[in-house]
Amino acid sequence: MARSSVPLRGPGDNNFRCSAPITREKHTVNMRAVFSGTRLRPAVELNFSFYAAHPVTGQPLREWIRDIPGRAWVPERKTWTVTALGATPDKTLTDAGFTTVGPDDEPMSLAGYTAPLVTVDPEHPGFLCVYPRLAGQFHAAPQLPGTAIWRAEETRWLVSLHDLPGGMPKEFALTVEAAAALDAARAAPTAPDPARDQLLYDGTLDGLRGVPVTDLRNVDRATATAMSKLDITSVYDLLHHVPRRYIDRSNPALITATSVGCKIAVLGTVDGVTSAQTRAGSMSKVSVRDTAGTAVFCTWFNAAWITRRFTKGDLVVLHARLDTWTGKGGVEHFGMNNPLMDKVEPSTAVMVPVYPASAKAEISTWQLHRAGAEAVSRMGELSDTIPAQVLAERNLLDRTQAYTGIHLPTDPANADAARRRLAYDELLGLQLTLRNRRDAEGPQGSAAVAHIPTKHLSNQLIASLPFELTAAQRRVANEVARDMRATTPMHRMIQGEVGSGKTMLILIAMLMAVESGHQGAIMVPTEILAIQHHLEIHTRMVGLTKADGTPVRIELLTNKVTGQPRRAVLAGVADGSIDIVIGTHALLAPVVTFASLSLAVIDEQHRFGVEQRATLRHKGPDGRTPDMLVATATPIPRTAVMSIFGDLEHSVLDEMPPGRSPITTCSVETADADCADDGALPWQLIREQVAVGHQAFVVCPMVSDSETKTAAAAENTAAALGQGALRGLRIGVAHGKQPAVERTAVMAEFTAGEIDVLVATTVIEVGVNVPAATVMVITGAERFGLAQMHQMRGRVGRGQWPGHCVLVGTPKTADAAQRIDALCASTDGFDLAEVDLRIRGWGTLLGASQAGAATELRVADILTDTDLVSWARQDAITILEADPHLARRPGLRDEIRRAVGEDAAEWLTSA
Ligand code: ADP
Ligand code: MG
Repeated sequence: MARSSVPLRGPGDNNFRCSAPITREKHTVNMRAVFSGTRLRPAVELNFSFYAAHPVTGQPLREWIRDIPGRAWVPERKTWTVTALGATPDKTLTDAGFTTVGPDDEPMSLAGYTAPLVTVDPEHPGFLCVYPRLAGQFHAAPQLPGTAIWRAEETRWLVSLHDLPGGMPKEFALTVEAAAALDAARAAPTAPDPARDQLLYDGTLDGLRGVPVTDLRNVDRATATAMSKLDITSVYDLLHHVPRRYIDRSNPALITATSVGCKIAVLGTVDGVTSAQTRAGSMSKVSVRDTAGTAVFCTWFNAAWITRRFTKGDLVVLHARLDTWTGKGGVEHFGMNNPLMDKVEPSTAVMVPVYPASAKAEISTWQLHRAGAEAVSRMGELSDTIPAQVLAERNLLDRTQAYTGIHLPTDPANADAARRRLAYDELLGLQLTLRNRRDAEGPQGSAAVAHIPTKHLSNQLIASLPFELTAAQRRVANEVARDMRATTPMHRMIQGEVGSGKTMLILIAMLMAVESGHQGAIMVPTEILAIQHHLEIHTRMVGLTKADGTPVRIELLTNKVTGQPRRAVLAGVADGSIDIVIGTHALLAPVVTFASLSLAVIDEQHRFGVEQRATLRHKGPDGRTPDMLVATATPIPRTAVMSIFGDLEHSVLDEMPPGRSPITTCSVETADADCADDGALPWQLIREQVAVGHQAFVVCPMVSDSETKTAAAAENTAAALGQGALRGLRIGVAHGKQPAVERTAVMAEFTAGEIDVLVATTVIEVGVNVPAATVMVITGAERFGLAQMHQMRGRVGRGQWPGHCVLVGTPKTADAAQRIDALCASTDGFDLAEVDLRIRGWGTLLGASQAGAATELRVADILTDTDLVSWARQDAITILEADPHLARRPGLRDEIRRAVGEDAAEWLTSA
C-alpha cells in the first residue's frame, strides 16, 4: 500500500539544498541543508574544513559537532548530517558561524522544523505519528503521553489517539484535531475513495481465490449460501462462472419472430400471475409480454414458489421452447411449458448476461449478474500473465478487459472478444502443461534407432495376405517407414475407424523393426485384448522367416503369465530371442528389460496415461528412445488432437477395406430387455437373421462395477433368451469371469458358425471378426459410452450382408439420450467423436490419469476455437523453448500450478 502521509505543519517544500560560503578568517565554512529522504526525516548537512573553529569559543568545529545529538558522518560527501538541533536550531547554527540560506539565497529560518510534525498513521489506524524532526527525539518526548512508542528506524513516535484527549500541549492541539478528523474520515464505511473501495488482494487472478464472495456488498449470507451450491465461494470462482448467453436489449428476440417449436430466450415483463389447484397438483401460470407487447402464457406444475417469486411488472428472461395452443373461440396463443424464468433488474446494461444453473441453486441470474458486475468494477487492474505485445499481435483483450467484458459486456462483440481472451488463457495453460509432459516422456533430445527396413519380412507378410492393402494403409505405412528411418524418435498416432485395418499397419511397423535387427512391443489396455492380438498376430506371422532363416518369435506377457513361462518370456525379451512381445501394462514392470527395443506400439492410446508411455520410452537400447506409435480406434477430431497431443504427428486411415456393408441402427426404449417377449424388435430381428444363416451378438452392460455381477447378468440373459424369445437357437456366453480357454473356445465356435447368438459383456468390444454376424443388440445402452458402442457396432457389417444394430435401454439423462440419438444418426466415427466431445467434455480424451483440473475448459471450445487452439500451441512452444520451467514468468507458472494441481505441474519445479 502506498504510504500517504499528510503534513499538517511546517514548511511545504521537502527537498531543498542550500549552501552558503562563509569566510571566517582563513577558514571556509559551508553550510548545506539537505532534507534527505522524506520530508518527515529532515537532516541538515554541515560542511566545514578540518581546521574550522567555533567563532565564539574557538573550539574546533569537529569537536563541537560531537556534542550534537543525531549527527552522522557521510564519508562519500565528507559532510556531517544532523537530524536534531534542539529547540533552537537557528541559534545553534548561527552561534557556530553557519548561515542558513534557502534556495533563493535569502537567509531562512529552521524554526518550522523544530515543531513536531504530526500525521495520521496509514498503517496503524487510531494512531498518530509524531516526527520530532530537527527538535530531536528527546526534545519532543516530554510533550507526548507516556504510552508513546519510539520507532527509531522511522524516526517517529507512535501515539494512540485514546491517550490524547486534552492531554496534548498547545502547540500540538491544532494538528492533533486535524489528524483525528482525518483519521475518522478514513474509517468511515462509506468512503467514496475508489482506491479504498477496491477489493483487497494482490492484483493477481489467483489472489482473488482468497477473496470470499461475502466481501462484495451485493452478496449477503443467503446469496453466499446459494452461490456455494454452484461451487462459488470466492470472487475467483464468481469471475469464472461465466454467462451461458446474453440478451442483447438493443436487439431483443421477439416471440413473433420465433418459429414455434424452437428454443428461445426472450426478455419480457410479467403481466399477470395466477395459480390454480387441480387434481394432479398445483398449476402456476404467468403471462409475460415481450418488448413488442406479444403475450406468452407460461405454465408450471407443482412449482408454487413461482407465484411467490414473481409479480406483475417484473422484468424477466424466459428460456423455453415456444409452443402454441388454441384457446376459447379458436384464438391461437403462445405458450411455454415449464420455462426457465429469471428476474432481471431494470438496469442500464445493454447486454443482460444469463448465467448457468441459476434456478437450481435458487439464485437468480440477476443476483449473479449484480455480484459479477460488482466484482469486476471493484477488482481494479488485474495483472496480466501474457505480455502486452502478444496480446496486441493476437488482437486479444487484456485480462482486466476480458473479465469485465464477460460479465459486463458493452455489446455482443465485446462479449465475444472477452470470451476469446479467457479461452486463450485456458488453452495456453493446457498447452504448456501438456507439452511439458510430452517432453518429459522421452529423454530430451535423445536419438532413436535409425531403422533400415529391408522389406524382407514385411513383403513376406503382404504377400501372404488374402487381400490388397488399401491406398490409405499404403500411405500410412510409408509415413511410418519414413519416421522409423529417421534418428529422431517417432511419435505418431494412427487414427482410423473400427476395422479400417490399423492392426495390419502395426504389424508392418513391427516387422520393419525386426528386419532392422531390433525388437518391438505392443501394449494394449486389457488382458483379453492382449490375448486376441497375440492370437491374431501370431496367426498372421506363421511362416515368416528372418534373414537368418529363423522364424519371427512372438510372445505374450500379461500378469496372468506366471512361473516358468513368465521367466522364459522375460529371458527371451532380455536376450533378444523374442522379436515381438504383446502385453498389457505388465510390460512396464522394471523386470522387463529388452535387448534392443526400437519400436513401442500402444493400441487404444487414450486408455493409457502419459506416465505409462514414458516408462515404455525409457526402455530403449543404450539410452536411445524407441519409436512410438499409438493407434486409436476412437477417432479424435483434428483440433482436439492438436490441442491434446501437442505436436504429435498423426495419420488417418480414412478408407475402409472393401467388402464392408452398411449398418442400420435403431433404438428401442424399454426399461428392461424382456427376454420372454417374442414380439420385441431385437429378438425378432435376430430370429429372422439366424433363419437365413447369419449370426448375432447380444451385449450386456457392466453391473455395478462388479465383474462377477456382470458375468452373472450375461449368463442370466443367455439363459432367459434360450428359454424365451430365442428358443431353439444355439446360444453361447462370453465374459471376463470365464477361464481364458473356455472363452476362447466359445469365440472360436462363434467364429466357426457353430453358435448363432453370442451373449457377451464388453469382451467383444474389439477384435472379433465374424463376417456372418449381422446383428448387434446392445442392452442397457444408456450405460455405455458413445465410442464404446460405436466400437461394438463395428463387429457387424464385416461381410457382404448389411448389418443391424439395436440399442435397447431407457436413457435417464439427457447425455445418454444424446449418445443413443447420435449413434442412430451416424456411423461416421469422426462425426461421433465430435458429438462425444460435446457431450462428455474432452477431459476423457486425455485418459483418466490426466483428467485433472487442467482438463477443465469452461470457456474454450476446441472444436470451434481453432485459431485460438493453434495460437496457444505456437505460443506455448515459443515460451517453453526459451524458458522451459517458466522461470521468467512466475505468475503464469503459479497460475498453472494452482490450476492443474501440484502433481501434474511437477515439471514446473523440476529443474
Ligand atoms: P482395426 O484395428 O482398424 O479395427 P483391423 O486391423 O483389425 O482393424 O482390421 C479389421 C479386419 O479387416 C481384419 O480382419 C483385417 O484382416 C481386415 N483387413 C485389414 N486390411 C484389409 C484390407 N486392405 N483389405 C481387406 N481386409 C482388410
Ligand atoms: Mg485393431
